[in-house]
Amino acid sequence: MQIHGGISAEDGGVRATWAEVRLGRLERNLEAIRKAVAPAGIMLVVKANAYGHGLVEVARALSPRTDCVGVAVLEEGIQLRRLGITAPILVLGGVWGDQIGSYLRHDLTLTASSVERLEQIDAVAGSMGLEAKVHLKIDTGMERVGVHWYSAARLQEAALRCAHVRVEGIFSHFANSDAPDLDDARRQLDRFQEVLRFYERRGLPMPVRHIANSAAVLRLPESHLDMVRPGILLYGVYPSPEVERTIAVEPALAWKSRVVYFKVVQPGHGVSYGSTWRPARMARVVTIPVGYGDGYFRAMSNRAEVIIRGKRYPQVGAVCMDQMMVNIGWDSAYNGDEVVLLGESGGERISVEDLARWAGTIPYEILTGINTRVPRVYVD
Ligand SMILES: *Cc1c(COP(=O)(O)O)cnc(C)c1O
Repeated sequence: MQIHGGISAEDGGVRATWAEVRLGRLERNLEAIRKAVAPAGIMLVVKANAYGHGLVEVARALSPRTDCVGVAVLEEGIQLRRLGITAPILVLGGVWGDQIGSYLRHDLTLTASSVERLEQIDAVAGSMGLEAKVHLKIDTGMERVGVHWYSAARLQEAALRCAHVRVEGIFSHFANSDAPDLDDARRQLDRFQEVLRFYERRGLPMPVRHIANSAAVLRLPESHLDMVRPGILLYGVYPSPEVERTIAVEPALAWKSRVVYFKVVQPGHGVSYGSTWRPARMARVVTIPVGYGDGYFRAMSNRAEVIIRGKRYPQVGAVCMDQMMVNIGWDSAYNGDEVVLLGESGGERISVEDLARWAGTIPYEILTGINTRVPRVYVD
């Protein structure tokens, strides 16, 4: 068992709130995805602390089995290089400010999202005597970074004029591949295919083409092209309730805590800030040392449930920054009892989707919200 992150006590003990990550499950999810998309390659998407699972540990365990690692920002790429990850790393976000030299020094692949940026990359690479590896970013309907599909030829032509740039890939991103109706995603894919004809028409070698996120991996096989970029699916979670579950994956993260206090609350006495919950009759209430300062969103107050001793109980009163209360009715619980916030225990299960519903958000935000104060414990 390995423990990473969080704040360690002086005796090296683990905090009473932690996240358990099953690297073996991530490996099985990756293999299930690989089987479904072969012969397409796989980009290991580890941005945002690997969707809360731990950037470095996930990259260490899985990058040798993938074609490329995807991060969102330069700093994530540098962190991976410093910790010895040697796989190709594509920084998916746009290049900002005068960071181009830093990308090149760390052998990171850049996203070229405009002609101007591409020319800057070429100039910096030339001045450093290096060749920059880039993927061209085409906007086919997301209206985020990237050159519009209808102006893409300008970027592609500019790339041909750059002496210090090697275009290794070209990509786009779906805005609606998880929606019930796939028409919009299909339209984006058509636009991307049209952009790619540039290379065929000129008899030029085709860069690595990629557009499929998790939802497209599941639902649009024609979008798999040369490489796919599954994020949430790799972590065993489906991108939305609408998507067909055509690949079986399992969640790999459990979030746990312990009972640290027990008290009896008299009828009508308010619990926590604002006294938003008052028991109708005498109630046993336990305190759990987790709160919105860890990523257990305050929006879940009086809506969430936890599992203690194999039984579900309601969270009550406002979730505080570092603690929250749970009503165990007239049952028993003892200091030190394990509390499952996310995961399974005794036949009961709380899913990322449950937490997302209680918080009024999507599973992505729950996973990436579990912050660094929570130590990650690697099992399996
Ligand atoms: C985050 C991201 C992905 C992965 O998205 P999922 O929906 O988690 O599969 C793929 N591509 C890009 C460009 C991204 O930013």
